[in-house]
Amino acid sequence: MGSYFVKIIIRIAKWIVKKLLVIALFVPVENPNHIIYDKPLLEEYDFIVVGSGAGGSPLASRLSEDPHHSVLLLEAGGAGSGFADWPLFTTLIYNVRKYDWTFHNVRDEGYCIGYKKQVNNQCTLNRGKMLGGSTGINGMMYVRGNKNDYDQWERLGNPGWGFRDVLPYFIRSEDNQDPYLRQSPYHGVGGYLPVSSARYLSGLAGIWIQAARHLGFEIGDINGDRQIRFMNSQSTTKLGERWSAARAFLRPASHRPNLNILIHSHVTRVIIDPVSRRARGVVFYKNRRRHVVWARKEVILSAGAFASPQLLKLSGVGPCAELRKHGSHFGIGGIDFLTKKKPGLTLAHFVNLKSLHNYVKHRTGPLASYLLLEGTGFAHSGVDNTSISSDWPDLQFLFYPLHLATDGGLLFRIILGMSEKVLETALWIKRFKPAKFKPGYRIVPVMLHPRSRGRVVLRSRNPWQHPDIFLNLFDDPRDLALGGRLQPAPNPYCHLHPRGGPDWWDCSIRVFAETIWHETSTCAMGPASDPAAVVDNQLRVYGNLLACAWWMPP
Ligand SMILES: Cc1cc2nc3c(=O)[nH]c(=O)nc-3n(C[C@H](O)[C@H](O)[C@H](O)COP(=O)(O)OP(=O)(O)OC[C@H]3O[C@@H](n4cnc5c(N)ncnc54)[C@H](O)[C@@H]3O)c2cc1C
Repeated sequence: MGSYFVKIIIRIAKWIVKKLLVIALFVPVENPNHIIYDKPLLEEYDFIVVGSGAGGSPLASRLSEDPHHSVLLLEAGGAGSGFADWPLFTTLIYNVRKYDWTFHNVRDEGYCIGYKKQVNNQCTLNRGKMLGGSTGINGMMYVRGNKNDYDQWERLGNPGWGFRDVLPYFIRSEDNQDPYLRQSPYHGVGGYLPVSSARYLSGLAGIWIQAARHLGFEIGDINGDRQIRFMNSQSTTKLGERWSAARAFLRPASHRPNLNILIHSHVTRVIIDPVSRRARGVVFYKNRRRHVVWARKEVILSAGAFASPQLLKLSGVGPCAELRKHGSHFGIGGIDFLTKKKPGLTLAHFVNLKSLHNYVKHRTGPLASYLLLEGTGFAHSGVDNTSISSDWPDLQFLFYPLHLATDGGLLFRIILGMSEKVLETALWIKRFKPAKFKPGYRIVPVMLHPRSRGRVVLRSRNPWQHPDIFLNLFDDPRDLALGGRLQPAPNPYCHLHPRGGPDWWDCSIRVFAETIWHETSTCAMGPASDPAAVVDNQLRVYGNLLACAWWMPP
């Protein structure tokens, strides 16, 4: 009788998920943030900004504060989905090409083994395609870089990028909603970007944080004077809703007569004057029509870690045969646990009328949890001794109050891009199948300073074709040394190796590691003496990279 009811509930849950998916995809609830866009196009602007994500939206907003500057912001995606502001519903638009670029890596036998995109061994590299870019689909967790990261940038020959230089900008942009942080000298009030704690917590992260305290870790603000701490995460949300970069920075600016935001405008090339070696304008396509628009002062590329280097290459910048290397944080695969007693979330917490009502009416309840990233913490692994004393962690932990099978393998696994092969493995059958729909939690350790470097390479000169992305995870064996200490789950892919031995660790981590969407540094900043640098400390592309002259316009 019991199992009969469970089956009925599962069928109803599947039906609701499908319906929501259909609504998300086909109901044209566009522009939930009422941003004014698509004003008439002029021939020339002072500044042209390409891409409206975390980089482009604040830039366009800030530049247009001066009424003497005319600014054009070109965004390849649309105005965004009506669901984008409802934190948990955003997951429904992952991998939907209208809202997500759905990049993936070039298949490799050495990593992403438990994942599948077009073929096996491919991690999905989601990127938002809408006003707000990836901030329209991201986890919203508000985590700044470590102060030592910025100071190291400065030491590497980038004046103006030390922690004391960047901190005032973080503070100025922020509107922290939490009374206990509004007084902090490290936080700001009244800026464009709201930051707040979740309006709903399962309680599990609190227990996890207390466990960290017992182990001797500090509890407190990870964006404050120290970072090696644990806390309930803060996110770029306000009153239970997502605040993408577009909502935060463009909405208040879009009425300005000197700012024009064009959506569905895909830039295919930056026009570079071969004599002065300066960017003069861009070519873009809107509604299948080709447009050329000119920049009096600057063209600013903020199209994200994959599209920006692709655009540079398409415009003839960079050595033709070789492309810049990029780095990334990456997660070493989640470690899942069951909880024997309450608290804990099951699918029933989310999929019920009360929870929907609570969210729609009061913006609270389980549906207000932001991608379920309830807690986070930083630590030092001890593998690399150099920075232990200086509060420069090499590990971050992400805490989710559910595990891989809490939803029966319906959604979470698919969002992560895990292959269906995972469902047939001994790991799933022995560990997860009995745990289906039961509460539990998942901790994802994130390696913050991996040494392996990836590459982004043009697949062709067709600007609509994705570039080839080689993640090269674990090219540097030191990355495996750290990862190997962290992934204790039994692993069916690796049964040929003695469990717990070095080969087993090696294999295990190659199966589950993923990039957790934090790819960076594809157009790296550095001094002219650095052969890997693409831009200087003012973020100007080095002129000597203009090598592929035959792609330039006459
Ligand atoms: C699923 C996910 C979860 C994440 N979670 C977090 C988190 O919890 N906390 C956090 O701090 N970070 C998180 N991140 C990372 C964060 O969102 C990104 O680092 C950040 O958005 C990058 O900003 P960007 O401006 O470089 O690129 P994006 O925000 O990706 O913006 C690039 C924009 O350029 C547009 N574009 C691309 N090509 C063209 C073209 N040819 N012409 C015109 N427009 C173009 C794109 O459509 C997009 O709008 C996450 C990312 C993802 C995808």
